[in-house]
Amino acid sequence: MTTHEQAEVPNSNETRPEFAFPHLGVRANEAALAGGYHSPQVVVETRLNTNEAPEGPPAAFLHELEKAVRGLHANRYPDRQALRLRSALAEQHGVVSEQVFCANGSNEVLQCLLLAYGGRQRAALLFEPTYALHSHIARITGTRVVAGGRDDRWQVDLAGAETLLAAIEADLGPDEPSITMLCSPNNPTGGVEPPEIVAGLAEIVPGLLVVDEAYGQFAPNSALDLMPSYPHVVVVRTFSKTWAMAALRLGYLIAHPDVVRSCQQVALPYHLDALKQAAGELALRHEPDMLDRVGRLVAERSRVASALDSLAIEVWPSDANFILFRLPGLESAAVWQRLVEHSVLVRDVSGWPGLEGCLRVTIGTPAENDHFLGSLASVLAEG
Ligand code: PMP
Repeated sequence: MTTHEQAEVPNSNETRPEFAFPHLGVRANEAALAGGYHSPQVVVETRLNTNEAPEGPPAAFLHELEKAVRGLHANRYPDRQALRLRSALAEQHGVVSEQVFCANGSNEVLQCLLLAYGGRQRAALLFEPTYALHSHIARITGTRVVAGGRDDRWQVDLAGAETLLAAIEADLGPDEPSITMLCSPNNPTGGVEPPEIVAGLAEIVPGLLVVDEAYGQFAPNSALDLMPSYPHVVVVRTFSKTWAMAALRLGYLIAHPDVVRSCQQVALPYHLDALKQAAGELALRHEPDMLDRVGRLVAERSRVASALDSLAIEVWPSDANFILFRLPGLESAAVWQRLVEHSVLVRDVSGWPGLEGCLRVTIGTPAENDHFLGSLASVLAEG
């Protein structure tokens, strides 16, 4: 068995132990549970598979966080409203705190949205290929998933969306889909959705238009700018990428106050621990540092993209901190495996709809990127 296969084993159906309570079943069906996030965690020198920040957060931030930890009243429940953090985020985005909802990573933000607005007899429209958790979370909340497509530049097919909307309306009524999900920049294809496409969608969808901007700071435009004209637009962001805080699990949304209230109703009480609230608030004081890092990563992204181009590889333009590429004539699983042997981990996305033969690499430090590029060149030379 190869490392690639071993790494997938925990998610594979064949090895799932027999369920001890078959008469119970689970609310979500098997198909819903079989999806989800399958990024193998393999011990290697250079990990470029989950789009994290390559460096840790700034030392000054960590120092302030240490002090904050000493001052925490760990015996007390945290502020259930997370008011200081929400106010700080509101100030950063020029909105009011009633428009901000925070959760344990943007995945939990999405889950709250789907718990609030999804469910039986409701639909979520999304555009494949896209972030796998959108359809996964929709399914586990019992929401019907309707998948539209993208054009050859991976932009959302608006005409196709209109046809799907008409079909959903005929089936479920004029208020459905209650949620349309967009990922911009899109994971794993990398491109930001042009503002006219986001606005075009906002014009035609009956429910919320949720724009997942996990990689928003790397991109030239944001759906935040559309919110004054389209109050049903919801923008979801995370501290996991540009803020280098993936381990702390913090994400948030900016939306109409009604959406925030609905999310608060479905979230568990005190779901946001005090340490996370303090960390988020402190991080925002280091925005210039974060923006410097974004600038460095964007420069590295250009360098890696040019280097991949010169290897005669098919590369798609990226507005995020990762690059999608395809090696014509080579089996992606084999290339993935050979890179692991060089101690480099990338993401094999070849199983995602429309991405046959594709791999995705996160932009790392210059040294990590050199390691990846050198290893890939060797793999290609070895044939
Ligand atoms: N959205 C997108 C598009 C992502 O790529 C990711 C992480 N891979 C997330 C959301 C989830 O991020 P987190 O839960 O760490 O905030």
